[in-house]
Amino acid sequence: MHLTAMKPEFWNTAKRYYDLKSYFINTFGCKVYKIQIDAGFTCPNRDGTLATGGCSYCDGRYSKLRRSGPLPAVSRQIEAGKALYSRLRDAKKFIAYFQTASNTYGPYEHLKSLYDEALAQEDIVGLAVGTRPDCVEDAILDLFEEYAKKNQVWLEYGLQSIHDRTLALINRGHKAETFLDAVARTAHRRINICVHIILGLPGENRDDMLTTARVIAGLPVDGIKIHLLLALRGTVLGEQYEAGKITMIQKEEYVATVADILEILPSHMVIQRLTADGYRDIYLAPEWGKNKMNVLNAIDRELERRGTWQGIRSGRDLFPG
Ligand code: SF4
Repeated sequence: MHLTAMKPEFWNTAKRYYDLKSYFINTFGCKVYKIQIDAGFTCPNRDGTLATGGCSYCDGRYSKLRRSGPLPAVSRQIEAGKALYSRLRDAKKFIAYFQTASNTYGPYEHLKSLYDEALAQEDIVGLAVGTRPDCVEDAILDLFEEYAKKNQVWLEYGLQSIHDRTLALINRGHKAETFLDAVARTAHRRINICVHIILGLPGENRDDMLTTARVIAGLPVDGIKIHLLLALRGTVLGEQYEAGKITMIQKEEYVATVADILEILPSHMVIQRLTADGYRDIYLAPEWGKNKMNVLNAIDRELERRGTWQGIRSGRDLFPG
């Protein structure tokens, strides 16, 4: 197979993949920081609309902020986020990141008032909105399209796996088709699409994970977050792990699979995450996943060892056989 000979120059990074920091510097001419917002949303997989138990890996506790008392207004959360970054001299531009639960799941006017409030704050240059693919109506996409004329807008879809049998196993409450439909309705609206996937899901082997990546590589997707599956105490998956019913992915396989996926994804796709972190108080496994820097360094070393980078196999042999 012919491989792309050169690492793309437009990345402007020493990394072997197009990381979010480099993308922001290329786009805005400076670093841009994301401020996490919990706007009090839930999701249909927890409020009884689809189910109450949620996805099998989800702890359902939402943010620390929500657990600590009544949620402050979006503007106050942005103010607090900026204060946290104030020790950094280069923190001048921010993206309001509606992170917790499904952030397009609510009445239109309520959603619009929250997003408007965020965009009205000083130095906010855009929105990133995390949601499920079954929670995006066309009216909300129209609204994001309008915002995107003046702001950067990222819509982050949780997919996790392209395989319906896995989605059923982890109780996602939607099928891959729903995701494909959401992407088709979102694309070509100037809205950036980011997809979340999880590696190491029960019943999936390396080929299954690579198939998910190949499908994403062929879609009009602008960014990706690759998560490591964590077993957390108090979740269905955590119980399955403790009962010995599932095993967690090994570090070597994770690192090699991430490297394979990066080689498949097109070079313009922004890599927003390559592992998982947090959840220290309920973390069960895998033990090696606790050291995020160690995992990221191992991925860098693996690409270095192979002499490859993101996109080197993009567009070629995507669906061999
Ligand atoms: S992971 Fe997201 S979609 Fe799944 S139950 Fe938790 S909040 Fe809902």
